[in-house]
Amino acid sequence: MHDQYLQAMGITRWVRRESDPVVVNDIVEQVAPQVEENNEVELTVIQTPDSHMVDDLDWHGLQQQVSSCIACDLHATRSQVVFGAGSQQADWMIIGEAPGAEEEQQGLPFMGQSGQLLTGMIEAMGLKREQVYITNILKCRPPENRDPSKDEIMACHAFLRRQIELLQPKIILVFGRVAAQNLLDTDKLMKDLHGKVFKYKDTDIPVVTTYHPAYLLRAPSEKRKAWNDLQVAMRIVAGETS
Ligand code: SF4
Repeated sequence: MHDQYLQAMGITRWVRRESDPVVVNDIVEQVAPQVEENNEVELTVIQTPDSHMVDDLDWHGLQQQVSSCIACDLHATRSQVVFGAGSQQADWMIIGEAPGAEEEQQGLPFMGQSGQLLTGMIEAMGLKREQVYITNILKCRPPENRDPSKDEIMACHAFLRRQIELLQPKIILVFGRVAAQNLLDTDKLMKDLHGKVFKYKDTDIPVVTTYHPAYLLRAPSEKRKAWNDLQVAMRIVAGETS
């Protein structure tokens, strides 16, 4: 029934098969950053947004807070923040890494070729893009599209956490190694993370990780694995597994 969407993912012929057993791991508490003492060097202070300061914010208030955020150095090079997009009543929450050039220009997550492939993946699951909520672990674009630093991710995490609290999704689908490792607080590689089921820390919200569309564009042979991962997530939302 979704053959045309599977085609959009670049999978022209597929055979349904049983996925690997679902593994549930609890997520370890995020470890506070190590700060080295150095009396000779002027230290840059990362003003991590206090989670208590965003705890009471609704969607509008949170978006305003993010728009004026200067908690990490990325504020200095951004042209605009990319807060997130989609339904604020969505069952599905999709989380990627950080905005790129096109996303920053449009103020929306997952644009361009990666965005088109993501849309194909969403539609392959029988959903429309407007029915899910899409955001990134970072709201500002790292210059030159470099990997975000740990400090930047920690500085931004209170915003993502509040988005999750407000949305209360039935599932979080995480795209790509950087987002997966940081959301799950692990240094495991994607080959060990994708298709398994975790819980977002201190909650019962299931988290499934899969490959980033940008990676799948470079490695189309991995699309079948990604489709298997999406099927794991679909079964959870359908109540067929937990
Ligand atoms: S990336 Fe996040 S923490 Fe850093 S300035 Fe942007 S909104 Fe603030």
